[in-house]
Amino acid sequence: MLQRKFEDNYRHKGLRKKLVEEIRRKGITSENVLKAIEEIPRHWFLDVAFLEFAYQDKPFPIGYQQTISQPYTVAFQTQLLDIQPMEKVLEIGTGSGYQACVLSKLGAKVFTIERQKKLYQQTKEFLQAAGFSDIRCFYGDGYKGLPAYAPFDKIIITAGAPEIPQALIEQLKPGGRLVVPIGKNSMQIMTLLIKNADGSLTKEEHGFFAFVPMLRNKANDDL
Ligand code: SAH
Repeated sequence: MLQRKFEDNYRHKGLRKKLVEEIRRKGITSENVLKAIEEIPRHWFLDVAFLEFAYQDKPFPIGYQQTISQPYTVAFQTQLLDIQPMEKVLEIGTGSGYQACVLSKLGAKVFTIERQKKLYQQTKEFLQAAGFSDIRCFYGDGYKGLPAYAPFDKIIITAGAPEIPQALIEQLKPGGRLVVPIGKNSMQIMTLLIKNADGSLTKEEHGFFAFVPMLRNKANDDL
Protein backbone atom coordinates (compact mmCIF):
# COMPACT_ATOMS: atom_id res chain seq x y z
CA MET A 1 0.00 0.00 0.00
CA LEU A 2 1.36 3.43 -0.93
CA GLN A 3 1.92 6.00 1.79
CA ARG A 4 0.51 9.31 0.56
CA LYS A 5 0.19 12.75 2.03
CA PHE A 6 -2.23 15.25 0.49
CA GLU A 7 -0.09 18.29 1.04
CA ASP A 8 0.88 20.76 -1.66
CA ASN A 9 3.23 23.43 -0.37
CA TYR A 10 5.38 26.17 -1.93
CA ARG A 11 8.27 23.82 -2.44
CA HIS A 12 6.10 21.37 -4.39
CA LYS A 13 4.63 24.19 -6.45
CA GLY A 14 8.10 25.58 -7.17
CA LEU A 15 9.34 22.19 -8.33
CA ARG A 16 6.28 21.89 -10.55
CA LYS A 17 6.89 25.27 -12.19
CA LYS A 18 10.40 24.11 -13.08
CA LEU A 19 9.03 20.87 -14.50
CA VAL A 20 6.57 22.82 -16.65
CA GLU A 21 9.38 25.00 -17.98
CA GLU A 22 11.39 21.88 -18.77
CA ILE A 23 8.62 20.25 -20.82
CA ARG A 24 7.90 23.58 -22.52
CA ARG A 25 11.58 23.68 -23.58
CA LYS A 26 11.22 20.14 -24.89
CA GLY A 27 8.49 21.33 -27.25
CA ILE A 28 5.07 21.26 -25.57
CA THR A 29 3.18 24.34 -26.76
CA SER A 30 -0.39 23.89 -25.51
CA GLU A 31 -0.87 26.39 -22.67
CA ASN A 32 -3.91 24.46 -21.40
CA VAL A 33 -1.92 21.28 -21.10
CA LEU A 34 1.01 23.04 -19.40
CA LYS A 35 -1.42 24.67 -16.96
CA ALA A 36 -3.02 21.32 -16.08
CA ILE A 37 0.43 19.87 -15.35
CA GLU A 38 1.26 22.87 -13.22
CA GLU A 39 -1.92 22.41 -11.19
CA ILE A 40 -1.76 18.69 -10.45
CA PRO A 41 0.43 17.61 -7.50
CA ARG A 42 2.28 14.76 -9.21
CA HIS A 43 3.95 13.81 -5.90
CA TRP A 44 0.57 12.57 -4.64
CA PHE A 45 0.74 9.77 -7.21
CA LEU A 46 3.95 8.35 -5.74
CA ASP A 47 4.83 7.12 -2.27
CA VAL A 48 5.85 9.99 0.06
CA ALA A 49 9.36 8.55 0.15
CA PHE A 50 9.81 9.42 -3.54
CA LEU A 51 9.03 13.14 -3.49
CA GLU A 52 12.42 13.89 -5.05
CA PHE A 53 11.46 11.89 -8.14
CA ALA A 54 7.97 13.31 -8.63
CA TYR A 55 9.14 16.45 -10.41
CA GLN A 56 11.82 14.97 -12.58
CA ASP A 57 10.78 14.54 -16.19
CA LYS A 58 11.02 10.76 -15.96
CA PRO A 59 8.72 7.75 -15.70
CA PHE A 60 8.66 6.14 -12.26
CA PRO A 61 7.66 2.69 -10.93
CA ILE A 62 4.30 2.62 -9.16
CA GLY A 63 4.31 -1.06 -8.15
CA TYR A 64 2.56 -3.96 -9.89
CA GLN A 65 5.37 -3.81 -12.50
CA GLN A 66 3.87 -0.60 -13.91
CA THR A 67 5.02 2.98 -14.25
CA ILE A 68 3.58 6.48 -14.08
CA SER A 69 4.39 7.94 -17.52
CA GLN A 70 7.00 10.66 -17.99
CA PRO A 71 5.39 14.13 -17.69
CA TYR A 72 6.61 15.08 -21.18
CA THR A 73 4.93 11.98 -22.61
CA VAL A 74 1.68 12.71 -20.77
CA ALA A 75 1.76 16.29 -22.09
CA PHE A 76 2.60 15.10 -25.63
CA GLN A 77 -0.24 12.58 -25.83
CA THR A 78 -2.68 15.04 -24.27
CA GLN A 79 -1.67 17.77 -26.72
CA LEU A 80 -2.29 15.43 -29.66
CA LEU A 81 -5.77 14.66 -28.31
CA ASP A 82 -6.72 18.37 -28.42
CA ILE A 83 -9.21 18.09 -25.52
CA GLN A 84 -12.21 20.42 -25.43
CA PRO A 85 -14.30 20.88 -22.26
CA MET A 86 -17.11 18.32 -21.78
CA GLU A 87 -15.70 15.85 -24.28
CA LYS A 88 -16.06 12.17 -23.43
CA VAL A 89 -12.60 10.64 -23.24
CA LEU A 90 -11.66 7.00 -22.82
CA GLU A 91 -8.24 6.14 -21.40
CA ILE A 92 -6.77 2.64 -21.61
CA GLY A 93 -4.29 1.96 -18.81
CA THR A 94 -5.29 3.88 -15.65
CA GLY A 95 -2.03 3.07 -13.85
CA SER A 96 -1.42 5.75 -11.21
CA GLY A 97 -4.35 7.87 -12.45
CA TYR A 98 -2.10 10.82 -13.32
CA GLN A 99 -2.94 11.00 -17.04
CA ALA A 100 -6.66 10.70 -16.18
CA CYS A 101 -6.34 13.70 -13.84
CA VAL A 102 -4.66 15.79 -16.55
CA LEU A 103 -7.58 15.01 -18.89
CA SER A 104 -10.08 15.82 -16.15
CA LYS A 105 -8.38 19.18 -15.41
CA LEU A 106 -8.90 20.06 -19.09
CA GLY A 107 -12.63 19.61 -18.56
CA ALA A 108 -13.04 16.17 -20.13
CA LYS A 109 -15.46 13.55 -18.85
CA VAL A 110 -12.98 10.77 -18.23
CA PHE A 111 -13.58 7.01 -18.39
CA THR A 112 -10.49 4.92 -17.66
CA ILE A 113 -9.82 1.17 -17.79
CA GLU A 114 -7.16 -0.83 -15.94
CA ARG A 115 -6.57 -4.57 -16.35
CA GLN A 116 -4.81 -5.14 -13.02
CA LYS A 117 -7.38 -5.48 -10.27
CA LYS A 118 -5.37 -4.28 -7.29
CA LEU A 119 -3.98 -1.31 -9.17
CA TYR A 120 -7.52 -0.47 -10.35
CA GLN A 121 -8.81 -0.60 -6.76
CA GLN A 122 -5.93 1.38 -5.30
CA THR A 123 -6.16 4.13 -7.93
CA LYS A 124 -9.94 4.34 -7.77
CA GLU A 125 -9.77 4.93 -4.01
CA PHE A 126 -6.94 7.42 -4.40
CA LEU A 127 -8.79 9.46 -7.06
CA GLN A 128 -11.80 9.73 -4.72
CA ALA A 129 -9.62 10.83 -1.82
CA ALA A 130 -7.69 13.32 -3.95
CA GLY A 131 -10.86 15.05 -5.14
CA PHE A 132 -11.00 13.56 -8.65
CA SER A 133 -14.21 11.66 -8.04
CA ASP A 134 -15.62 12.61 -11.48
CA ILE A 135 -13.18 10.21 -13.13
CA ARG A 136 -14.93 6.90 -13.76
CA CYS A 137 -12.68 3.90 -13.22
CA PHE A 138 -13.31 0.46 -14.72
CA TYR A 139 -11.60 -2.87 -14.20
CA GLY A 140 -11.42 -4.62 -17.56
CA ASP A 141 -9.59 -5.29 -20.80
CA GLY A 142 -8.88 -2.12 -22.71
CA TYR A 143 -8.82 -4.01 -26.03
CA LYS A 144 -12.60 -4.26 -25.64
CA GLY A 145 -13.11 -0.62 -24.67
CA LEU A 146 -16.39 0.35 -23.01
CA PRO A 147 -19.16 -0.34 -25.54
CA ALA A 148 -21.86 0.58 -22.99
CA TYR A 149 -20.52 4.16 -22.80
CA ALA A 150 -19.47 4.63 -26.45
CA PRO A 151 -19.08 6.61 -28.60
CA PHE A 152 -16.17 8.72 -27.31
CA ASP A 153 -14.84 12.01 -28.65
CA LYS A 154 -11.29 11.01 -27.84
CA ILE A 155 -9.45 7.80 -26.89
CA ILE A 156 -5.95 7.57 -25.41
CA ILE A 157 -3.95 4.38 -24.93
CA THR A 158 -1.15 4.68 -22.39
CA ALA A 159 0.46 1.28 -23.01
CA GLY A 160 2.35 0.08 -26.09
CA ALA A 161 -0.12 -1.61 -28.44
CA PRO A 162 1.09 -4.24 -30.95
CA GLU A 163 -1.62 -3.06 -33.36
CA ILE A 164 -4.58 -0.68 -33.52
CA PRO A 165 -7.35 -2.21 -31.38
CA GLN A 166 -10.33 -2.46 -33.74
CA ALA A 167 -13.03 -2.27 -31.05
CA LEU A 168 -11.69 1.13 -30.01
CA ILE A 169 -11.91 2.51 -33.56
CA GLU A 170 -15.55 1.49 -33.56
CA GLN A 171 -16.13 3.31 -30.26
CA LEU A 172 -14.73 6.59 -31.62
CA LYS A 173 -17.10 9.31 -32.87
CA PRO A 174 -16.72 10.62 -36.43
CA GLY A 175 -14.28 13.52 -36.14
CA GLY A 176 -12.82 11.85 -33.03
CA ARG A 177 -9.14 11.31 -32.26
CA LEU A 178 -7.31 8.25 -30.96
CA VAL A 179 -3.75 8.54 -29.70
CA VAL A 180 -1.83 5.28 -29.35
CA PRO A 181 1.82 4.24 -29.13
CA ILE A 182 2.09 1.40 -31.66
CA GLY A 183 4.85 -1.17 -31.69
CA LYS A 184 5.59 -4.76 -30.76
CA ASN A 185 9.00 -4.30 -29.19
CA SER A 186 10.47 -1.95 -26.60
CA MET A 187 9.87 1.19 -28.72
CA GLN A 188 6.58 2.40 -30.14
CA ILE A 189 5.59 5.05 -32.67
CA MET A 190 3.21 7.63 -31.23
CA THR A 191 0.29 7.49 -33.63
CA LEU A 192 -2.64 9.88 -34.01
CA LEU A 193 -5.70 8.50 -35.80
CA ILE A 194 -8.48 10.85 -36.84
CA LYS A 195 -11.78 9.25 -37.74
CA ASN A 196 -13.30 10.96 -40.78
CA ALA A 197 -17.02 11.50 -41.32
CA ASP A 198 -17.14 8.53 -43.73
CA GLY A 199 -15.51 6.26 -41.13
CA SER A 200 -12.09 6.20 -42.84
CA LEU A 201 -8.97 7.00 -40.81
CA THR A 202 -6.29 9.63 -41.25
CA LYS A 203 -3.02 8.59 -39.63
CA GLU A 204 -0.15 10.75 -38.39
CA GLU A 205 3.07 9.50 -36.79
CA HIS A 206 4.81 11.51 -34.09
CA GLY A 207 8.11 9.88 -33.16
CA PHE A 208 9.32 7.12 -30.86
CA PHE A 209 8.36 6.52 -27.24
CA ALA A 210 8.78 3.63 -24.78
CA PHE A 211 5.77 2.26 -22.90
CA VAL A 212 4.97 -0.86 -20.89
CA PRO A 213 3.06 -3.30 -23.13
CA MET A 214 -0.69 -3.33 -23.63
CA LEU A 215 -1.61 -6.87 -22.60
CA ARG A 216 -4.65 -8.92 -23.53
CA ASN A 217 -7.38 -9.86 -21.04
CA LYS A 218 -7.84 -8.55 -17.56
CA ALA A 219 -5.58 -9.92 -14.86
CA ASN A 220 -6.84 -11.02 -11.49
CA ASP A 221 -3.35 -10.27 -10.38
CA ASP A 222 -1.76 -11.12 -7.13
CA LEU A 223 1.66 -9.89 -8.06
N1 SAH B 1 -1.77 6.30 -17.64
C1 SAH B 1 -0.92 5.81 -16.57
C2 SAH B 1 0.33 5.09 -17.07
C3 SAH B 1 -0.01 3.74 -17.33
S1 SAH B 1 1.22 2.49 -17.52
C4 SAH B 1 -0.53 6.89 -15.60
O1 SAH B 1 -0.85 8.06 -15.86
O2 SAH B 1 0.06 6.56 -14.58
C5 SAH B 1 0.17 1.40 -18.49
C6 SAH B 1 -0.98 0.78 -17.74
O3 SAH B 1 -1.77 0.09 -18.71
C7 SAH B 1 -0.59 -0.24 -16.69
O4 SAH B 1 -1.19 0.06 -15.47
C8 SAH B 1 -1.12 -1.56 -17.26
O5 SAH B 1 -1.56 -2.46 -16.27
C9 SAH B 1 -2.27 -1.07 -18.11
N2 SAH B 1 -2.69 -1.97 -19.19
C10 SAH B 1 -1.94 -2.74 -20.02
N3 SAH B 1 -2.72 -3.41 -20.90
C11 SAH B 1 -4.01 -3.07 -20.62
C12 SAH B 1 -5.27 -3.44 -21.17
N4 SAH B 1 -5.40 -4.32 -22.17
N5 SAH B 1 -6.39 -2.88 -20.63
C13 SAH B 1 -6.30 -2.00 -19.60
N6 SAH B 1 -5.14 -1.61 -19.04
C14 SAH B 1 -4.00 -2.14 -19.54
